[in-house]
Amino acid sequence: MRNPPIFDGHHDALTRPTADRLAGGRPDGHLDVPRARAAGLAGAIWAIFTDGVATDDLFVPTPDGYAAPLAPALDHGTAAAHATAAAGRLHALERDGHVRIARTVADLDAAAAGGPHAAVLHLEGAEAIDPDLEALEHWHAAGLRSLGLVWSRPNAFGHGVPFRHPSSPDTGPGLTSAGRALVARANHLNILLDVSHLNARGFADVAAISTAPLVASHSGAHAIAPSSRNLTDDQLDVIAASDGLVGIPFIIEFVRADGRLDPTTPLRTVVAHLRHVADRVGVRHVALGSDFDGGEVPDALGDVTGLPGLLDALRHDGFTEDEVRGIAWDNWRRVLGAAWAA
Ligand code: ZN
Repeated sequence: MRNPPIFDGHHDALTRPTADRLAGGRPDGHLDVPRARAAGLAGAIWAIFTDGVATDDLFVPTPDGYAAPLAPALDHGTAAAHATAAAGRLHALERDGHVRIARTVADLDAAAAGGPHAAVLHLEGAEAIDPDLEALEHWHAAGLRSLGLVWSRPNAFGHGVPFRHPSSPDTGPGLTSAGRALVARANHLNILLDVSHLNARGFADVAAISTAPLVASHSGAHAIAPSSRNLTDDQLDVIAASDGLVGIPFIIEFVRADGRLDPTTPLRTVVAHLRHVADRVGVRHVALGSDFDGGEVPDALGDVTGLPGLLDALRHDGFTEDEVRGIAWDNWRRVLGAAWAA
């Protein structure tokens, strides 16, 4: 079966320790330029994430799953310095012809037609932006086309969800006044807003303010796996009503019903999230958001080169070829196009 082009809504390869070797191939990690090409990954949202906590401190096992306190806030200066350097890394990849930083839908279409991989520049958490939003203009000029207001910690704009299972995503207060201004300003600049990692009240605030389709780039279905990081059915309904989408992550602790880190987790556990969203709100509102290099994925996937196998698992589950194409590429293209042309 010849696969459609594939778009991944979230990966963290740009800020991993071996990210200086993305062009030629890394000895580790989930994704680099050669492996993306081999997998048919024609485009992706390349997250810039500034770390502050070890993964072991996020998924602290409990009898029922895991729990962690909300991670501490990160100061603007540290985040701005780190994010600027990481963005420079992506610009270097573009300069050397390995990717094209996607600013318009035409860049996505060119990648789907065989051109360079379309890399969407994304900030995962807005700490690198000052509360007066002056830096947002600079980031837009540098190619920023996607923005997550928070990671799982508080910042000047809102409050993330702590990593907890089982847990509702309703874990704290909504957006700050700076956060509400950031939503409006991002709409004005045609920057996609990403609600993954936001708590339920922050999600509701974005939904109330934003004029663009709502996107959760890497969040699963809470009905399948009751993690604080996943979306309730009510949230799925709100996303669909905006004609947005959910990118399903592959991170084991987010997709398993029991939240346990079990590398033998089968592909059908990931597929169950795609099926739930498709059945609940329609297949045009679900896509891929791997979170490669952001945690551990099932051995059955391995790394980005496992994506064709995941498409086969979707076919095996009964998704039609048109639906597979929507999940793989067309849904992300539609929503990015709407956000960027608003
Ligand atoms: Zn994330």
